[in-house]
Amino acid sequence: MSGKPDENKTKFDVIIIGAGPAGYTAGIYSSRARRDTLILSGILPGGQLVNTTDVENYPGFENGIMGPDLMINFRKQTERMGTTIVDDEVTKVDFKQKPFKVSTASKEYEANAIIVCTGANPRKLGLEGETTFAGKGASYCATCDGPFFRNQELVVSGGGDSAVEEATFLTKFASMVHLVHRRDELRASKVMQERAFADKKIKFHWNKNVEEIIGNEKVQKVVLNDTKTDEKTTLEVGGVFVAIGHEPNTKLFVDEIELDKQGYVILKENTKTSVEGVFAAGDVHDHRYRQAITAAGFGCMAAIDVDKYLSEN
Ligand code: NAP
Repeated sequence: MSGKPDENKTKFDVIIIGAGPAGYTAGIYSSRARRDTLILSGILPGGQLVNTTDVENYPGFENGIMGPDLMINFRKQTERMGTTIVDDEVTKVDFKQKPFKVSTASKEYEANAIIVCTGANPRKLGLEGETTFAGKGASYCATCDGPFFRNQELVVSGGGDSAVEEATFLTKFASMVHLVHRRDELRASKVMQERAFADKKIKFHWNKNVEEIIGNEKVQKVVLNDTKTDEKTTLEVGGVFVAIGHEPNTKLFVDEIELDKQGYVILKENTKTSVEGVFAAGDVHDHRYRQAITAAGFGCMAAIDVDKYLSEN
């Protein structure tokens, strides 16, 4: 079914924007439904899993799999199903008329249906150590990486629902969780705060920022800076979980489809957006689960919805 993509072809039944678990899965389902499908993957295909090491919670891999390898498998499977994949970045979309138009710097593509799978990125503290220790103790996902830190002390940075939820979850594995927040009160909902305050394994560090992440092969220490006194303290920990929010990749769609206050795509029914014929799947609309498996599931759902939409129209 696979073949070399025709580089001059610009008209498709379906265009999928983004190539993480949602985009590739949508491609597999759409191509298997015999819809002529293009994925515009962006310059760095694969989504957030490309920056991950071991993935132990994606079903089907008894011994786990490395994130980048998982995404290469996704891609090969998608190509084998006949999806055209172009590794180019979308610079402009026009969903105001049909066929919809999706442009890169060099080409304009057209399709009767679109699936937006551009994902979201965790907000970063902006520290060098976040890059140096990516996959070696610096993480943005407690569900994914928590089990690797049994009996270790950990830092969680943030004060919202995510930070408190992650800190509470991490107490299952860690010997102690240090929740570091830049203010003296949490943003998280009261009920989650109360649960965290009652947990003896969570220690709060108020008015503090994580200033430096230090280690050798792995994270060993974290330096905190007091926002009021500028005093530095050092914690000996095995890992740092940054939970200071996510940023959905939706700048392209601001004037095209409805977004919520945080910029996530609003789904109207199933995977339908506010524009008929434009669908969305994965972390670009889902700020609750944010897992590779849920993104893949949404990709499948969107492709099935698109197939139905194209049949009816
Ligand atoms: P959030 O509510 O935006 O909270 C982000 C937290 O990170 C805030 O406490 C903020 O501090 C802090 N922060 C932001 N930038 C920072 C920086 N550069 N350095 C240090 N700290 C920084 O994000 P979220 O916690 O990810 O939640 C996002 C949404 O999902 C919310 O609507 C939340 O209610 C929802 N959510 C719900 C649940 C649940 O109900 N189970 C779980 C997770 C998330 P300040 O407080 O000082 O601004």
